Amino acid sequence: MRPGTLIAFLCSANTLFGQAYFQQQVDHRIDVRLDDVGHFLHAHETFTYTNNSTTALDTIWIHLWPNAYREKHTTLSDQLATNGDLDLHFATEQERGWIDSLDFRTDDVPLSWGIHSQHIDIGWIKLRAPLAPGGTTSISTPFRVKIPDGKFSRLGHTGQAYYITQWYPKPAVFDANGWHAMPYLGNGEFYSEFGTFDVTITLPDNYTVGATGNLQNVDERERMNRLAEDIAPSEKSNDFPISSAKTKVLHYTQDRVHDFAWFADKRFIVRKSEVALPADGKTVTTWALYTPKNAELWSDAVSYVNESVKFYSQWVGDYPYDACTAVDGTISAGGGMEYPMITVIGNMNDKMGLDNVIAHEVGHNWFYGILGSNERDHAWMDEGMNSFVELLYMRKHFPSGGFNIGVPGLKKLTQRTTDAHRLQSELGYRLNARRNLDQPLSLTSRAFTETNYGTMVYMKTALIMDHLMAYLGEEIMDRCLQAYFEEWKFKHPQPEDMRAVFERVSAKELGWVFDGLLGTTRKVDVKAASLKGGTLTFRSTATGEFPFPISAWNGPDSLGTIWSTGTK
Ligand SMILES: [Zn+2]
Repeated sequence: MRPGTLIAFLCSANTLFGQAYFQQQVDHRIDVRLDDVGHFLHAHETFTYTNNSTTALDTIWIHLWPNAYREKHTTLSDQLATNGDLDLHFATEQERGWIDSLDFRTDDVPLSWGIHSQHIDIGWIKLRAPLAPGGTTSISTPFRVKIPDGKFSRLGHTGQAYYITQWYPKPAVFDANGWHAMPYLGNGEFYSEFGTFDVTITLPDNYTVGATGNLQNVDERERMNRLAEDIAPSEKSNDFPISSAKTKVLHYTQDRVHDFAWFADKRFIVRKSEVALPADGKTVTTWALYTPKNAELWSDAVSYVNESVKFYSQWVGDYPYDACTAVDGTISAGGGMEYPMITVIGNMNDKMGLDNVIAHEVGHNWFYGILGSNERDHAWMDEGMNSFVELLYMRKHFPSGGFNIGVPGLKKLTQRTTDAHRLQSELGYRLNARRNLDQPLSLTSRAFTETNYGTMVYMKTALIMDHLMAYLGEEIMDRCLQAYFEEWKFKHPQPEDMRAVFERVSAKELGWVFDGLLGTTRKVDVKAASLKGGTLTFRSTATGEFPFPISAWNGPDSLGTIWSTGTK
């Protein structure tokens, strides 16, 4: 996401620490029909759950996140209210959303299931018999979703523009720390099991859809290609056309993803391109789907998708999927939002801002989509690492600077720096750090104030990684990122896993990064104290190692820069 306590339910008392790494597999089959008059989804789902742990499971915890929009006091509604947004609290019945008509069965035999005592957007399903290690079970259910108004959060509709995200019954993650069932929140949303998706979407045939996965219908692929060649989109109206009486059934499949989102609009202008990946040369098809009112702003958007896919592939590792799409959507929460292979972008002011947010959201395919870390517990691994690579992207594509923060007076600062993109993060970090209102990055998403979620999780992490890169050098930093990606792609890395890779590849002890800078709010200050007889003495508030650069000049001539580890 781009801005605008963990609740872990252990279903068994025995600790799971000490288990070797494992991850569960969840394969989904969903058939869904859109009712664009009443704004409902009518659906049926079967998920096949494979237990790769060494623990027999008698219960599966399941997210029913459309229920986050159901009542005045859901966890989402309460968090929004705490941040001063009372729209959901005071929403009308017509604006609210929910999920119902559930009937979980295995082999057509009804299963006992229920709703969590405190969170109506979390359910539990009791299995007929404990699912043994290595065992697989299939659970089916019909479900109906009332699509909420799009103004509250991510799942929603604005008239007949549909943002269908976080919408289906979805098992929580079970890992070595137990179950991670969590209520839906706008920050730190994701921790999900990898698997396959096989989804059909039935809707009036004049809708254009962008979705996770590969479209299987030849005729619809031809329709999309024809739309992409329509070079006179300015004649299109922003009004919604009447829905066709005829429906179509779109079929998408995908493996190695942990979520499935789709966006449907009858007005979409379609642009198609492709980009070759740097390592293996494979071609990725790219799409931009946008509304007529944003036609001018979005005219180059598909090239931003291309550049983003290429840049992150270069820095982190090749994009593993066949397609990547950016969708124009007037979502309320933040400038943009990530889903596997597809991102939705809110209202942007200018092309640089659009390019920036597309890069950020496309970048989440790596830090969230492929490296499936626990964002609720360790948001910096997701938003922070992504913001770091985004910083590198902005430096490359907008080297002369440019500022996204529209605060008067800041423009002058931008002109005086050679690194406006970094300065933006520094100013964000200092806003609360200089008043000691900052918070350590080791906290869970829910523990951060709204301001600190942006200025610490995103900006401070980017600054820390930028400092680490300056110390290690670009080449070693890149090797660390590549190795981390290679070893943990399609898995659930924890902070210690990332640290182990970075320390091994860099051959450095990095406690000052992972314990010090990420784990505390301590401010490190280094000052030159004296220069006598060719010996530089410095003073540092760091308690241990803290590398910093020392640059020397002889008159106007630079003598170069060396790094001190900050130790005696
Ligand atoms: Zn983000």
